Amino acid sequence: PINSIKDAIDFAKDNNAVMADLKFMDFLGTWQHLTIPAHRISEDLFEEGLGIDGSSLRAWQPIQASDMQVRPDHTTARMDPFCREPTVSFICNVFDPITGQPYSRDPRYIAQKAENYLKTTGIADTAYFGPEAEFFIFDDIRYSTATQHSFYKVDSVEGAWNTGRDEGPNLGYKPAHKGGYFPVAPNDSLHDLRTEMSLVLEACGIEVDVHHHEVATGGQSEIGIRFNSLVRMADDLQWFKYVVKNVARRHNKTVTFMPKPLHGDNGSGMHTHMSLWKGSQPLFAGEGYAGMSETGLQFIAGILHHARALIALTNPTTNSFKRLVPGYEAPIRLAYSSRNRSAAVRIPTYASSPKARRMEFRTPDASSNGYLAFAAMLMAGLDGIEKQMDPGAPLDKDIYNLPPEELAKVPSAPANLEEALVALAEDHEFLLRGDVFTEDAIEAWITYKMEKEVHPANLHPTPLEFAMYYD
Ligand code: GLU
Ligand code: MG
Ligand code: MG
Repeated sequence: PINSIKDAIDFAKDNNAVMADLKFMDFLGTWQHLTIPAHRISEDLFEEGLGIDGSSLRAWQPIQASDMQVRPDHTTARMDPFCREPTVSFICNVFDPITGQPYSRDPRYIAQKAENYLKTTGIADTAYFGPEAEFFIFDDIRYSTATQHSFYKVDSVEGAWNTGRDEGPNLGYKPAHKGGYFPVAPNDSLHDLRTEMSLVLEACGIEVDVHHHEVATGGQSEIGIRFNSLVRMADDLQWFKYVVKNVARRHNKTVTFMPKPLHGDNGSGMHTHMSLWKGSQPLFAGEGYAGMSETGLQFIAGILHHARALIALTNPTTNSFKRLVPGYEAPIRLAYSSRNRSAAVRIPTYASSPKARRMEFRTPDASSNGYLAFAAMLMAGLDGIEKQMDPGAPLDKDIYNLPPEELAKVPSAPANLEEALVALAEDHEFLLRGDVFTEDAIEAWITYKMEKEVHPANLHPTPLEFAMYYD
């Protein structure tokens, strides 16, 4: 383990690093990076950081106050497996060079503050997160149509039934509609690719639990990785996306985490498992429903109570809401249950030992920024505990098939991003506690998402509209 700056410098030397790559998370959820020669790795680098222009980064600083600084976190040292020359990689925190303070819109800082806030409540000292970020693997063949739209072609092997596109007439051994989960090869043609992704992840120090094909055609896949504490898990999630996308790239494939790339088939979620611990004590294990403690049920109540606002951070794209529709194992109704995959919160029943007792929030997707999404989930759950909220009765029925009069009693997720953003504007006190999120960060999020995503998506004619209305 790398505990000191000296350890990090030694780590770079021992691995013969010739360059150091400094990665940081932007506001929306994309890693950005700068690279320096290894001879510049010094104590000073970790203490003073490196200047960047914050004004070119989405939803960050205005041009007149654009100087920012990134400071590598020495504990995040890893060798980057995708650089031709040996390159050590660090995840950075972002600072304002004038005040010397961490930048209030740095997602990693927000996540760090959430972890600190948890400790100050005295409720628990560690929150564990286990996200399951599903993704699609497509062939990386781009081509333009007459209308100059370029897009990724659906995997020619797997997508044939789904899209009706090419690959010749023999459809044997192709995953059928909803038949992806999970026959062996030759139906599963992506096994070796997922294995390679898993091995690279493990070489980066990210432990893999299991990999498998998912339900949808088009190569939908899942690689389960080990849970971690909040900031560490958000770091790992970013590494996970980076590894998966770049291994695919080696094989002329492309990976997308967008929640609903294919109409009429399952989307990709990022179910997130959570538990709280105090010392060696798992706080969610108890005698209540499905073996949950009162604290665990209050945490669930907090998540459900704030879910409509939370979703603006856990499902923050216009595409997110094309996944949250009935019939594809994605939850729409804000209820909880021990087995029910149509409810927003599930208590996994295979988590039989008290140590494994946890709740699974099934609504999130991987178009979210992990740091912001996890921080917000923690704050919502904590609000439930602090206010001793009651989650009401569990809903152990298939929600997709409830009679309308029963369905009407169960609250729904917002129908679209705009509704979610309005919900966040109305309900975010719980995020401001301990200064975890600032009013400024919430406002910047809502404004950016409305102006740069919701409005453009509403204003652009789409291929579907041509199909429906061209005449
Ligand atoms: N792909 C489903 C979703 O959108 C989840 C499938 C599963 O239960 O793993 O949430
Ligand atoms: Mg899954
Ligand atoms: Mg799951």
